[in-house]
Amino acid sequence: LPILLHSFLYRKAASATGLPTFLLVGPSGGGKTAFTTLTERGTVPTTHPSTTPLSIEALLPDPHVPASSHYRSPGDPAFERSRRFIILDTPGHGKLRNYATSTLADPGNVRGIIFVVDAAAIDEEAGLNEAAEYLHDVLLSLQKRYTNATTSKGPKEIPVLIAANKMDLFTALPASSVKTKLEKAISEVRNNRAKALRDAGAALSGGDEVDEEKEWLGEGGEGSFEFDEMREIGTAVDIVGGNVCQGKNSGDVAGWWSWIGEHL
Ligand code: GDP
Repeated sequence: LPILLHSFLYRKAASATGLPTFLLVGPSGGGKTAFTTLTERGTVPTTHPSTTPLSIEALLPDPHVPASSHYRSPGDPAFERSRRFIILDTPGHGKLRNYATSTLADPGNVRGIIFVVDAAAIDEEAGLNEAAEYLHDVLLSLQKRYTNATTSKGPKEIPVLIAANKMDLFTALPASSVKTKLEKAISEVRNNRAKALRDAGAALSGGDEVDEEKEWLGEGGEGSFEFDEMREIGTAVDIVGGNVCQGKNSGDVAGWWSWIGEHL
């Protein structure tokens, strides 16, 4: 119990510091909890299903350098401070996802979003569709936040990292294939959602217009979806492979650290 209490207080404190925050989202089983634990303790965890959001304070490990500190030298207190950030792990379970989307509506200190996905699961239709729907909704939340913004210069940019995890598995797809598969599947989600809206609109009001445009992710037109379309709303999407663990050992997520560093 004292250990639990300590970690609870630690976590409470972490969420109250106002540090730059990275929001961890993605389907269950992708490796969010594993990455959070690695970040917190530097060890590979035995994971448990996450049902509540978890906020932990982390330090960008060496040799990665926060972009804001490129001109500072190690040992400078400001340099050390700039390496601190918060990881907010959100539940991936379908019914609990509203937590992630509501955080996106009012993102406060959120500097970036890390969408963790199992690169082996992407090769199966169910895994691909689940990931594509979730990612579509995350991107649409960001788009709405941007288009609803009242300031003339638009809200601050929130980049997205698609962390293609479990690259240690031989069934894992390379990051470039994860990208094209997700883009194709998101195109389908986008078309299906538009069709459902049209059908619902027609049934409700005998043909009245529904505000389809607001629900359409990315640029208009019949073409297929590309992540580059998100630049228009201030969101750069990067896809970087990694593996949080390898058997019982820790794996390699250097690419994710450097992405975090670029946005810190
Ligand atoms: P979450 O639901 O997104 O929080 O996913 P978890 O962190 O609970 O991970 C789900 C499962 O995938 C666990 O059994 C992890 O040990 C395993 N896992 C996580 N990362 C990796 C990885 O890089 N490689 C392999 N092979 N398994 C991983």
